[in-house]
Amino acid sequence: MSDQTLSNLLQENRRFEPPADLAADANVKEEAYARSDADREAFWAEQAERLDWDQKWDRVLDWDNPPFAKWFVGGRINAAYNCVDRHVLAGRGDKVAIHWVGEPANDTRTITYADLLGMVSQAANTLTDLGVQKGDRVAIYLPMIPEVVVAMLACARIGAPHTVVFGGFSADALANRVADCEAKVIITADGGYRRGAVSALKPAVDEAVAKAAELGQRVDKVLVVRRTGQEVDWDDSRDVWWHDSVEQASTEHDCEFFDSEHPLYVMYTSGTTGKPKGILHTTGGYLVGTSYTHWAVFDLKADTDVYWCTADVGWVTGHSYMVYGPLSNAVTQVVYEGTPDSPHKGRWWEIIQDYGVTIFYTAPTAIRTFMKWGSDIPAKFDLSSVRVLGSVGEPINPEAYVWYRETIGGSRVPVVDTWWQTETGQIMISPLPGVTHGKPGSAMRPLPGVGAEVVNDDGEPVPNGSGGFLVLTKPWPAMLRTLWGDDERFKETYWARFADQGFYFAGDGAKKDDDGDLWLLGRVDDVMNVSGHRLSTTEIESALVSHPKVAEAAVVGAADEMTGQAVCAFVILRESALEGGEAAPDELIEELRKHVQKEIGAIAKPRQIMIVPELPKTRSGKIMRRLLKDVAEHREVGDVTTLADSTVMDLIKKKEGAGA
Ligand code: ATP
Ligand code: MG
Repeated sequence: MSDQTLSNLLQENRRFEPPADLAADANVKEEAYARSDADREAFWAEQAERLDWDQKWDRVLDWDNPPFAKWFVGGRINAAYNCVDRHVLAGRGDKVAIHWVGEPANDTRTITYADLLGMVSQAANTLTDLGVQKGDRVAIYLPMIPEVVVAMLACARIGAPHTVVFGGFSADALANRVADCEAKVIITADGGYRRGAVSALKPAVDEAVAKAAELGQRVDKVLVVRRTGQEVDWDDSRDVWWHDSVEQASTEHDCEFFDSEHPLYVMYTSGTTGKPKGILHTTGGYLVGTSYTHWAVFDLKADTDVYWCTADVGWVTGHSYMVYGPLSNAVTQVVYEGTPDSPHKGRWWEIIQDYGVTIFYTAPTAIRTFMKWGSDIPAKFDLSSVRVLGSVGEPINPEAYVWYRETIGGSRVPVVDTWWQTETGQIMISPLPGVTHGKPGSAMRPLPGVGAEVVNDDGEPVPNGSGGFLVLTKPWPAMLRTLWGDDERFKETYWARFADQGFYFAGDGAKKDDDGDLWLLGRVDDVMNVSGHRLSTTEIESALVSHPKVAEAAVVGAADEMTGQAVCAFVILRESALEGGEAAPDELIEELRKHVQKEIGAIAKPRQIMIVPELPKTRSGKIMRRLLKDVAEHREVGDVTTLADSTVMDLIKKKEGAGA
């Protein structure tokens, strides 16, 4: 990014005011921005009072040795105590913590805070019996069942950092992560359910244990939840059933309090761009950051709200906004095991209707899939309980935002587009539902207590109306502390680019509009250069999605002799557009090219558009553009191991071969 101006900025003039009743009773009001700016540390110290500390801190922030931060120095705290015990002690033991909805219909469980306390205490006792001590790492490889939350909190309770590995990952991926953070215990299940079928987990663990041994890491114990009842191989000296151990253990457990900077977990990033990084989060600051932002961004009213975050617990969103944020705030939440289309494409909306969900948090990839399926599906359900909608994971195209607001939010509910990363631990840039006049597609401004800027190559803020690099200008409580075992890579990856200014380099492009509000433009690595014009992928994708026949689009820059790079687009059509068969694709492609030209300008007009049935996505639902670039440049397709469905690339290549 040598020139900070991007040549393809979209115009978006729709505005949505906060609903009056929500604004009147909002948890956070406009004044919080100025107050936090005036004294950031005092602001975060005030938020830290939300939690129960065994011993208060004597210093809010130690930034004497940047980029290595310490927050709430000298404080002592236990994350599990804050997520469970204190609610029970405050008389909320009978409150439902988790409405668990299994994938098989009618397989449900209701877990109160008192139940959760008993279960977490049992698991903590068992882990201690299995030899896990404070500081030891524990890998968790489970489906979305209540035991995953119990396991995480039990680890936190005894000070053993967990590393949750997404249950869809392979034995290799599990082995690499186990070896990298030297985990000596793995918690897993015999298997799980997916789209009505039983899948196995334990064989992958057996394989991973062998592979980890080759990599030099011995796994002493494997704790196994019986979920499906399928046959499993068993090693008596190593394997332990959850129901024989945890469920027999004492429900009493006295917890110890740990230093505020005690490691809470290691989370490997999703690997959209390359080798996963082991992000380290610690206890006090992380809990303050997630607890505050969950309460502020969703305007949480813990006594009446029913919250649902659809993320898998294998991603950071599942950590911060399904476990630590919501439970520290004593919410009642839905946890769902299955996929949105099983047993029917309205399952999510049915769950919202059945449980009266009021706050709903999901990803643009899901929203665009529902757009593709059609609005008539959610229209069959009563979604009137919903009062706040959230989005996370990728830029939300304006058209997807408006669809979400209208179709799921009944045209009355605010949408909060939340920008953050595994590294940031907490939401950083987002509207506030009772304050912000929302603009579809914009994450708006940094939250109170957070410093963000858009800068040019030299680290200088760009003027309103132009684009550049997104940076974070001030330390924040839930920030990553380092990459596990690799301080050098930590400094190099995030802090070297703008070392003079001391800014954290997020790796994303962004623009400031004329009001100074922020728009995320996709990863810096994905920016294209066409005839010397720098073009963002996000804006061209959003232009394509604004065409009524398009559900989803991915754009890459492919090498071009004439222009340096040329815009190549991959497009999924809405089902309604396919009804007449795939008629006249040539005309449609020309129509789409012209549409981009009209929305953005001639420079952004794609050289090539391919209509495809699917797009390559990571398991967390993000588009993997580097693979599409391989196709557009007629190369062998690169590493597909982190793809959710590796056959997608074969489908796309077939299309390409057919000369689409
Ligand atoms: P890796 O760093 O291993 O390549 P990843 O960046 O996909 O993986 P995450 O930490 O889960 O892993 O994702 C953070 C990234 O997701 C952000 O840097 C940004 O590119 C994108 N992102 C998340 N939320 C938003 C949002 N609301 N708007 C725009 N982009 C978003
Ligand atoms: Mg990243």
